[in-house]
Amino acid sequence: MRCEVVAVGSELLLGQINDTNSSWIGQELAAVGIDSHYQTKVGDNLDRMVEVIEIALERSDAVICTGGLGPTQDDITREAIAKVMGVELVTDEALVEKIRHMFGSRGRDMPESNLLQARVPAGASAIPVQPGTAPGLAAEFERNGETKLIYAVPGVPWEMQEMMTGFIVPDLMARSGASAVIRSRVLRTWGTQEAALGEQLAEEIERLDAEGSVTIAFLASGMEGLKVRLTAKGTDEAEVEALLDAEDARVREIIGPIVFGVDDENMEAVVLRLCKEQGLTLATAESITGGLIAQRLTAVPGSSAAFRGGVISYATDVKTAVLGAPEGPSVSEEMVEAMALGACATLGADVAVATTGVAGPDAWEGIPPGTVWVATCVDGEVESHMLRFRTDRDRSRQYTTITVLNFLRKRLVARAD
Ligand code: ATP
Ligand code: MG
Repeated sequence: MRCEVVAVGSELLLGQINDTNSSWIGQELAAVGIDSHYQTKVGDNLDRMVEVIEIALERSDAVICTGGLGPTQDDITREAIAKVMGVELVTDEALVEKIRHMFGSRGRDMPESNLLQARVPAGASAIPVQPGTAPGLAAEFERNGETKLIYAVPGVPWEMQEMMTGFIVPDLMARSGASAVIRSRVLRTWGTQEAALGEQLAEEIERLDAEGSVTIAFLASGMEGLKVRLTAKGTDEAEVEALLDAEDARVREIIGPIVFGVDDENMEAVVLRLCKEQGLTLATAESITGGLIAQRLTAVPGSSAAFRGGVISYATDVKTAVLGAPEGPSVSEEMVEAMALGACATLGADVAVATTGVAGPDAWEGIPPGTVWVATCVDGEVESHMLRFRTDRDRSRQYTTITVLNFLRKRLVARAD
């Protein structure tokens, strides 16, 4: 089964919005092993849309179009599909009722133009999953003696995603004879680059390719780190879970130290969990991060069981007066270590993290922007690291937050062993 993606919308070509839908669909198709060799972007122009869909159907079995399904004049995806199929648009009475009902249930009058959305190419049908007012389309037809599939989903990302996971992916899998149960597990990493991860796991990925039951995909997620998604296919839940467990263990043997969490578990949640498991309380002393670390920690439900509090010691004299740090340069190893020790002492905590640095954009006291010192204090022992960022103020602060929490995580993991 080969399936292409066609993203419709002149705003995509003009660079006014990013085509995140195609990337998302690409990931989903890859995760279930459906080949997808091409992605095309095309403006809201009937002839060019028809051309692009026809080219796609020549080399693939299925096409997923995203965008252009709305009720306005420039939404012409359904016309284009009708033209490709060589049929007329017909009004689907059941859809008319459904759309009327959706407006009714929200207490709004329906603009007549919305009835255009009940027009479907003859022989196509509405996708049964319909999260918004725009229905999706699914069509199966013969073309040069071959069965072809066209799906159309709205451009609005969450509507598109619901239709993909609720209907299109299962439909494609059933048609391609893919196995019934597919599950993913995301291993979340911090502190490496996608290319490096790819190299480290290259052999394992090759082995998996030959074997065919598990796949690995990398998802770069910015401040959330790099995600390694394991996807397993099998005949039942137990088999798939066993496959995921085995692969999880194998991947951790290779990249174990950089894996900090699984699925939705973020860095701060992991740190808090480790503290609780070890009966430790936690405090923060923040300069460059200005409370970001404390903010992230306290956003985790149940954080009060471990987190005692934090000091935002932004001015140098606050570092000395509140945290008992010695006089001296405030962006330095000595300062950050004193801050971490001071946080434990002042706030009565077993472990602490501390940050100080130059967020930029300007240098400060001769120290270039992006220079950051972070420290962790565990059982009275301090460790510090210098970081250098070549990015903007906001990202430097965000990266510092995750990075220092990760240093603490590593020490807590080592401590438990
Ligand atoms: P609507 O019913 O809202 O008109 P539609 O199916 O006609 O939906 P578009 O008008 O093409 O879709 O896009 C609606 C919105 O969805 C856009 O303003 C944009 O924010 C978002 N969108 C559209 N296409 C994409 C895409 N390929 N990637 C990410 N977002 C998109
Ligand atoms: Mg639209």
